[in-house]
Amino acid sequence: MKKVYNFLTFAPMFEVILKKGKEKAVLQRHPWVFSGAIEKVKGKPANGDIVRLLNAKGDFMAYGFYNDQSRVALRLLEWDEHVIVDDNWFRNKVAVAVAGRADILADGTTNTCRLIFSESDYLPGLIVDKYADHLAVQVLTSGIENLMPVIIDELQRLLNPESIFDKSDASSREHEGLETVNTALTLTSPPENVEVRENNVIYNINIAEGQKSGFYCDQRDNRKILASYTKDKKVLDCFSYTGGFTLNSLQHGAASVTSVDSSALAIETLKENIKLNKLDAAKHIAIQSDVNKQLRVFRDQDEKFDIIVLDPPKYAPSRSSLDRASRAYKDLNRLAMLLLNSGGLLATYSCSGAMNMETFKQVLAWAALDAGKQVQFIYQFCQPGDHPVRASFPEGEYLKGLLCRVS
Ligand code: SAH
Repeated sequence: MKKVYNFLTFAPMFEVILKKGKEKAVLQRHPWVFSGAIEKVKGKPANGDIVRLLNAKGDFMAYGFYNDQSRVALRLLEWDEHVIVDDNWFRNKVAVAVAGRADILADGTTNTCRLIFSESDYLPGLIVDKYADHLAVQVLTSGIENLMPVIIDELQRLLNPESIFDKSDASSREHEGLETVNTALTLTSPPENVEVRENNVIYNINIAEGQKSGFYCDQRDNRKILASYTKDKKVLDCFSYTGGFTLNSLQHGAASVTSVDSSALAIETLKENIKLNKLDAAKHIAIQSDVNKQLRVFRDQDEKFDIIVLDPPKYAPSRSSLDRASRAYKDLNRLAMLLLNSGGLLATYSCSGAMNMETFKQVLAWAALDAGKQVQFIYQFCQPGDHPVRASFPEGEYLKGLLCRVS
């Protein structure tokens, strides 16, 4: 039999045989193969090795990263047998993804965005965020971990960043048997505060200490859209983090904004961001508290708002937690609806991939019923272009939101 070599290690490439009847998703170019779909692994590939996937008859199907510690045992990369998956293959994918963000950065009003979004950019397990001249990376698979020297070299060649920081502290690394990392990959570390611009709003980003890789750039478009409704309005920004919705609303002439977040660092940074943007601090109230508690405080004080933003963390990390999460989303939204002046707007989001738009609408209908309110959906929010959704990978779609008129 012809020997096929791994183009990265020059060792013979191992083969993985798929169970009969499990070809469909692979043929449709879904990039995941679950361990339960595998009939047999020939030889002993190391975790992170690139292997050949064959169907039960022995025909070639795809090349992919192997990992026997993960529920997703294979993350597929390439479906054409004749394409060589070597360093250049990965360099090319990095370059194409980076080039795809040019439009977002073109007019100079924004210098922060996601450059590489994992499977959705054909690089399973690699996330790269740009913060002005600094990069933050998250490495979530052992396959990408092996390739980091090549990926870092390509990012340096393309972008010449001042620093690259590894922020691989995501819990999904555990599923791949990888340890948590929080360290600079370049000789220079990023400064404690990196100043970035998004839609001409300035933010201080603390890459090492901040949440996620430092910032939630997936709400860029939604912050701008929501802000266009806020002139002269009394706004409540719940789960404000460092002020994405707050700062945009104040910049658009909101009468006042109250921001609530449980993180002390987020609230402290938000106050600095108000100053950085030369916004009127007299129009802003920052409250470090649990949103669920604070909404009840407002209810008891009979405090009302014209616009409320709800941007909670992921309540449903998996499909199995969807029922419980739906109840939490319902309760949160019900409380917020009760705090709105009649005809007021609720901008409500869910970043749980397991919760699709249809279910989210049902949750809101349920919340409206319980609150005794009428709700109209007047706009549907989604994730921006630097968080693309690959047609063959619907799992990449996670952020959704609804602008509701509540009366
Ligand atoms: N809207 C923000 C992003 C929100 S991320 C933006 O535009 O940047 C979710 C935020 O919820 C985080 O800042 C986290 O600190 C906060 N958070 C999580 N649980 C909370 C709770 N129970 N009460 C208040 N804030 C909470």
